[in-house]
Amino acid sequence: MIYPWQQSQWQQIQSGFQQQRLAHGLLFHGSAGLGKNDFAHQLAALVLCQSPTTSHHACGQCASCKLLAAGTHPDFIKLAPEESGKAIKVDDVRDLSASMALTAQFSGYKVAIIEQAQQLNINAANSLLKTLEEPADKSLLILVTAQPHKLPITIRSRCQQIAFQTPPESQAIDWLQQQGLENASLLLRLAHGAPLLAMDMNGDALLEQRQQLMQALLAIAGQKPVLDFAASLAKLPGDRLLGWLYDWLADLLKLHQCGEQVTLVNQDQAQSLAKLVKLSSLQGLYAMLDQVNQCIQLKSIPLNSQMLWEDLLLSWQRQIKRV
Ligand SMILES: [Zn+2]
Repeated sequence: MIYPWQQSQWQQIQSGFQQQRLAHGLLFHGSAGLGKNDFAHQLAALVLCQSPTTSHHACGQCASCKLLAAGTHPDFIKLAPEESGKAIKVDDVRDLSASMALTAQFSGYKVAIIEQAQQLNINAANSLLKTLEEPADKSLLILVTAQPHKLPITIRSRCQQIAFQTPPESQAIDWLQQQGLENASLLLRLAHGAPLLAMDMNGDALLEQRQQLMQALLAIAGQKPVLDFAASLAKLPGDRLLGWLYDWLADLLKLHQCGEQVTLVNQDQAQSLAKLVKLSSLQGLYAMLDQVNQCIQLKSIPLNSQMLWEDLLLSWQRQIKRV
């Protein structure tokens, strides 16, 4: 699917393809939740399709389109980490490079997509470099990442880079509402403007969990004991909770420094935030933000989540003044 906020990128890429001036290596970058992988798959489908439509999209009907949809197209490869945050291995990249050098069986093109390309380990990146430096004729390699700075410069410099931005708020909200999303405006804010992340957050359970975290912070600020809250928070999805805690702290810092006129991510929780900002110190909030940030950076390492939440909540209690 080409989303409404990707039209200019699509125009640029598909006309490049028509005029045969598309680079062999493309790098799609931009925040998570903007649909970059979907875009890459649409492009792969167009390049491989045997009879594209007059509006330059894959037809969805030809043998090539059907094989691609079934996940068995011989001229298409997709690589991604086995689990989010894990490395992409050198052996997989070698297989990809070997396959890209073979003659195509359908339209003449070979296409590979590497999702979460920042997870290429150093050997894997070096191995990929050869494929980028000496690309086979009619081959297209698409790297997709939300963290392009983590890719070696040697890789980045050999790719045509296409940037994806968060859409204007009104466009994103229109689209989310068309998908039947309630709370579109709140969820889009919590997703920092990324519509597909907002879609992922849809569902009562997540908003309830967010509420649970906020209640815990308020109760602990009132000097309630930490342990029970840590036990219940440890059972919830850690990545999401840490992200919310980060935003909550960032909002408190904004309130501290700029007063109540500021636009908050957690606008719906403005009253609780106003209460907490009076209890917290600037220095304590910065220390807490650092600690949460470190936990987010460590997310690929399996941590004991009960201990993690005990630590975080104790820090929170320490930095909050007694009421
Ligand atoms: Zn087709």
